[in-house]
Amino acid sequence: MKVDQSVIKDINRRKIMSLLRRKKKMTKSELGKAINVSLPTVISNVNELIEIGVLKEAGVASSTGGRRPTIVEFVKNAKYSIGVDFQIGRIRFVLINMNYEIICDRLIEFDVLRDMDKMMSDVKSEIDEMLRIMNIDSSRIIGMGISLPGTVNEKDKILEFAANLNIDNVDFRKYEDLFNFPVYIENESNAAAVAEYKIGVCHNKNDMVYISINEGIGAGIISRNKVYKGYNKRAGELGHMTIIKDGAVCVCGDKGCWNAYISERALLERYRGKTGRNVSSVRAFFELYDQKDGAAVEVMDEYIEFLAAGLRNIILIFDPRYIVLGGEMANYAKGFIEKVRRRTFSGEKLFSEKDVRIVVSELGMNASVMGAAIIPLNLFMEVEKVY
Ligand SMILES: [Zn+2]
Repeated sequence: MKVDQSVIKDINRRKIMSLLRRKKKMTKSELGKAINVSLPTVISNVNELIEIGVLKEAGVASSTGGRRPTIVEFVKNAKYSIGVDFQIGRIRFVLINMNYEIICDRLIEFDVLRDMDKMMSDVKSEIDEMLRIMNIDSSRIIGMGISLPGTVNEKDKILEFAANLNIDNVDFRKYEDLFNFPVYIENESNAAAVAEYKIGVCHNKNDMVYISINEGIGAGIISRNKVYKGYNKRAGELGHMTIIKDGAVCVCGDKGCWNAYISERALLERYRGKTGRNVSSVRAFFELYDQKDGAAVEVMDEYIEFLAAGLRNIILIFDPRYIVLGGEMANYAKGFIEKVRRRTFSGEKLFSEKDVRIVVSELGMNASVMGAAIIPLNLFMEVEKVY
């Protein structure tokens, strides 16, 4: 079989960048050994990466006999990537460097729903302003990832439907001319799953299901290094799996969906139903829970039952190595995660706590925007492409 040399070259360069990103500095001969290629091949690839600014020479190491080996260093601020996260009434922006560190973080807010043309023109001016303040030329931007709350066809760059934004069928290719770098779009939960997988709590651990618990429920699935999308790009609507037949009414119009039991809204409504009292926020609810308020503890015990019931279904369907609980609920989940694990695994014959780890997200509300920003970087410098 004839192997395309340009493909091999591309893979070698990605291996060098990924390795040096982790190790920071290595000699050329160490690089050659680590990725199993000859020294001349390393030198030619390193030279090209030096030319685009991603690597630089950083002195010489002490000699082990013969010529002293040259050290090369990863230049994390050579290039940047932008993440944009669309939410109801707000758009968040991050600029990250090649080491996935946030360099700039901005937010714009608005009162009324706007159409996408208007919002993308806001995105354009905000990014121009951000790059001007940071004194970064747009030629150093590898790309921009946009996280969207809806069904996304990432290949054709179409936002098919976003109920919360009251928007459907937006072709993002028409916005590409606004920017002189590539634009990628992704569903917000898939973007968050990418962030958890690349830099989060289960960093580089395959076969993971990410679940965000906010006002509603979102999920993203990583299987074999990639976001699992399904045939119609709608995989991961786990919030609408039936937990209780003919149960509570869900926002989707169906009855008994998981969302109707484990969303933050469901939690607060259950407390109100039990006590006749309103709690203003999830934070206020967890203050009561921490003070061992009887009704809050009771509501939480029921909540954990419903959460665990859904998690058991997820484990049976996907057999994941990790389940990450994220979203705003991640801020409070450390206080009850042990109970969730106990309820999920106790009495279970088909799987055990050894097989699947249920963990709390450390990225929390940063996950979607970080995942969006990671997508262009991943496509640029890593061997395993998530997207
Ligand atoms: Zn539903």
